[in-house]
Amino acid sequence: MILIIRFLLIYLSFNYHTFALDLPETAPQGSLIIGESSTADMILVDGESIKISPDGFYVFAISREQVEPVNVTFIRSNEIINLEQIFVEEQDFDIQRIDGLPEQMVTPLGDDVIKRIIKENNFIKDVKKMDLDFTFFKEKFVMPTNGIITGVFGSQRILNGIAKSPHRGIDIAAEKGSRVIACNDGIVIHAENDLYYTGGTIILDHGHGVKSIYAHLSSVDVVLNQQVSRNEIIGKVGSTGRSTGPHLHWGVMVFDTYVDPLLLKYN
Ligand SMILES: [Zn+2]
Repeated sequence: MILIIRFLLIYLSFNYHTFALDLPETAPQGSLIIGESSTADMILVDGESIKISPDGFYVFAISREQVEPVNVTFIRSNEIINLEQIFVEEQDFDIQRIDGLPEQMVTPLGDDVIKRIIKENNFIKDVKKMDLDFTFFKEKFVMPTNGIITGVFGSQRILNGIAKSPHRGIDIAAEKGSRVIACNDGIVIHAENDLYYTGGTIILDHGHGVKSIYAHLSSVDVVLNQQVSRNEIIGKVGSTGRSTGPHLHWGVMVFDTYVDPLLLKYN
């Protein structure tokens, strides 16, 4: 009898490990979480269903603003088979408060420019919704260009008490014309030479909502729907759009939640 129970326990713990994922117990705000489950047919992250690839891979983001633990529920045939919780490590984002600035520091935008910005923003919003079946996101990433990091993820300025939107990527200062490579395998889902804010802009899709954006490019060397490999040259560093000097703005997101590119898996 004892032997049977022992076998049963071994069997159960074996089974448990086939769906107990390598999810971390804790993760910083702005991290990309990649997991694998061989048994779940549905996974909920804080109640929202996410895509699972046929070979069991899934991905989600922990946002910059997330404070509460993230609840991940694994379901098979409508039954909960596992619950995991990831505690969120709060990051010390660089917040700059500048008060006493004269009002109306920027010249108001004309109607045409406003129309253009709205049109471009709506287009980008649609691009972010794309949900392709590839799982390129599970491979290691590479930095898209060499240079000095002059802007970090999550930094924010509060001007006269008004919070500006946080920095949603990193800035890498490099000479104009320096090559920009794909941070991972992907499909070009956006390639534009002249967006109002981001100038020459490329967005690559790495599957399951994971995308990378490359902005202020002086040259966009890929076309829509082109498949690219990690390390492949896709464009050149520039200062196009609203930019004060040559640099690459590089962002990584899962749908519309941005993550810190420096927290990605590099090897
Ligand atoms: Zn930037």
